Amino acid sequence: MKDKNYHSIHITKDRCIGCVHCMSACPTKAIRVRDGKAVIIDELCIDCAECLRVCPYDAVHSHTTSFAALDVFAYKVAIPSTVIYGQFGAAVLPNEILSALRRVGFDEVYDLSSICELNCAATEEYLNEHPRPRPYITSTCPVVVRIIQRRYPTLCGQILPIEPPREIAAKILRTILPKGLGIPAEKIGIIHITPCPAKMVSINSPASLDRSYLDGAISVRDIFPQILSALRKSEEDALMRHLFPETLLSGIGMGWPLSGGETRGLKSHRAVAVSGIQDTMRALDQVEAGLLQDIDVLECTVCPDGCVGGPLEVENRFLAKSRILELVAAAGEHAVVDQKDASRLYHKNFLSFDHPVTPVESRPLDRDPAKAIRKARRRDRLSADLPRKDCGVCGAPDCRTLADDIVRGQASLEDCPFVKKKKEK
Ligand code: SF4
Ligand code: SF4
Repeated sequence: MKDKNYHSIHITKDRCIGCVHCMSACPTKAIRVRDGKAVIIDELCIDCAECLRVCPYDAVHSHTTSFAALDVFAYKVAIPSTVIYGQFGAAVLPNEILSALRRVGFDEVYDLSSICELNCAATEEYLNEHPRPRPYITSTCPVVVRIIQRRYPTLCGQILPIEPPREIAAKILRTILPKGLGIPAEKIGIIHITPCPAKMVSINSPASLDRSYLDGAISVRDIFPQILSALRKSEEDALMRHLFPETLLSGIGMGWPLSGGETRGLKSHRAVAVSGIQDTMRALDQVEAGLLQDIDVLECTVCPDGCVGGPLEVENRFLAKSRILELVAAAGEHAVVDQKDASRLYHKNFLSFDHPVTPVESRPLDRDPAKAIRKARRRDRLSADLPRKDCGVCGAPDCRTLADDIVRGQASLEDCPFVKKKKEK
């Protein structure tokens, strides 16, 4: 069931000591420290997990699917992010990892690299058919979609309306498995193995689908020990499953989790890739200002270096990146997906969004426009009167945000230690 207010990032109050590291790192100013504990303002949070990365006390946690939760399914299928191929060192091959995942308890495991390539082929067709606007912005990273909906609403129409590979793969499996296996669709669980908590957001609160085709996402970090143990016990020959039966691993798709990998397979369009939350927001600022129109596609991922820098991975991201590049080189960068298949699926709208992504209203100062204007003026006056030291002692990330909280009735001027001291004098 779609939950518009779903968030994967939460704070465990008992562990929080109010050190404000997370508040300083949050790119949307969604965190306050009240009574010595961090709290997240849901309407502002985009689930980027920057707070999770910086908390020194393990007080920020992410909600992902547990393996035990899969017991409700009679048949379990895993479609891991290709990030997984970079997690186990240079000696372990992709088919060994997928086979180990099968021994962990999945009935079937599918490689996602050919579907990444399929997405790329569909993107090429879409760009050919839609010469304007420019640039389109990739939609694979759910955090990028959330930022655009909330901070850059005018860019919603520039989101590339092709579903990410994980959803396309799950949709194909939902179409073929129930009939093929003779098992009711609701008894088949299709699970993504994810490097970041944001995939849970796109499953529980999809921006472009009526309902996600996935049933959950297990984090790489959670399932890593089981895969490692299954790899050590393995003696049988590894068998790899592909969604397109005749295809092999796709080098184009394998490079997908690296920044630039999503658009690497585009042959006739100009793409630029940015990664990391700050660079992504800077690039979106430029697009909003009408710049970058000479680029066809802007590939944005908020994790550093792309999904390979996801916060729920185990391997050092530089080693993982190097391993994936080795695999891309070994597989070669020729197309393994039949372009006619890709074109047919694209023209049947099988790979497209169900509906466009729409803006999500940001927090107005007041529902009444006249009151909102008065509050904005008061906020500006307060902001000018505050010491502008942005020290964070008041529990807000900076003085202007404290002024905003005051006019909303969520903080008081005395929360500022400098104002308080002055008044006491
Ligand atoms: S980083 Fe945030 S959540 Fe972690 S202890 Fe400090 S204030 Fe609490
Ligand atoms: S997940 Fe990102 S937006 Fe949400 S509170 Fe943490 S740092 Fe802020």
